[in-house]
Amino acid sequence: MSILVVGSVAFDSVETPFGKVDEVLGGSATYFSTSASFFTDVNLVAVVGEDFPAEHVRFLEGRNINLAGLRTAPGATFRWKGRYEYDLNEAHTLETRLNVFESFRPQLPAGFEEARYVFLANIDPELQLEVLQQVKKPKLVACDTMNFWIGGKREALKKTLAHVDLLIINDAETRQLAEEPNLVKAARIIRDLGPRTLVVKRGEYGVIMFRDDSVFAAPAYPLEAVFDPTGAGDTFAGGFMGYLAATDDLSEANLRQAIVFGSVMASFTVEQFSLDRLKTLENEEIRTRFRRFKHLTHFEDLREA
Ligand code: AMP
Repeated sequence: MSILVVGSVAFDSVETPFGKVDEVLGGSATYFSTSASFFTDVNLVAVVGEDFPAEHVRFLEGRNINLAGLRTAPGATFRWKGRYEYDLNEAHTLETRLNVFESFRPQLPAGFEEARYVFLANIDPELQLEVLQQVKKPKLVACDTMNFWIGGKREALKKTLAHVDLLIINDAETRQLAEEPNLVKAARIIRDLGPRTLVVKRGEYGVIMFRDDSVFAAPAYPLEAVFDPTGAGDTFAGGFMGYLAATDDLSEANLRQAIVFGSVMASFTVEQFSLDRLKTLENEEIRTRFRRFKHLTHFEDLREA
């Protein structure tokens, strides 16, 4: 099944201890769609400015991403500037310019409203809800957000979350949203806001999923070359949702596999700046890393006395 995604398509300027890039392709919907496109078809809803180059459009089209919902509006494309210190788990936002997103009113192109899998990538929660309200009968609605919106649009975000099945956010955002420092307690508070499932991203420490009475944890793939963590979260979400939509199976076992596919995809993104690593990635590399992940986390049960 295909996935509908709304989120940012952006120019990112990023500084890490290992290098610096200016105005490269980024955005939550861009990373998500590219990652998900390794598994299934993606319908993207977003807006860019007149300064968005044809080269980036061609790249997304080349990944078979349906751009019927990508509007070009007068003005400048969304821009984000961030910096990472040696602790790559924490992004320091230096500047956020919404630009064309400030006046964006998403209108789903014909056919998009039939979507069964919906991902509300990180963007203004009001836009997330506007898109969701146009979808007729979604089977799974997943959502991401960040401190910028938790701090700036908490009430709108809560309204959106009431319609969300699965929330994917990082650990600091989990604590901020729940106003509770303990992650397990915070997960309960957030699930009371609407989402049945909460997936907490913990950077190099992996992912933890809370669902009904079950908790599942996966480490991050241990890498020597971590270059730029930007987009890791959205790439994770793309692999996770892409696998779920492709298999159309929401069982606990399949969700766990999806978590591993998401982690595998994110582990590639951080190896280079922007979407550079995803541009050269092959399906066989994904399968190989998935198997290594299985080996990484396998251990035997207790010996019988
Ligand atoms: P992450 O996967 O969490 O590292 O997300 C990184 C992407 O989020 C970058 O490519 C940014 O362009 C995008 N981004 C940063 N801030 C915002 C925001 N306030 N709204 C939407 N997208 C954002």
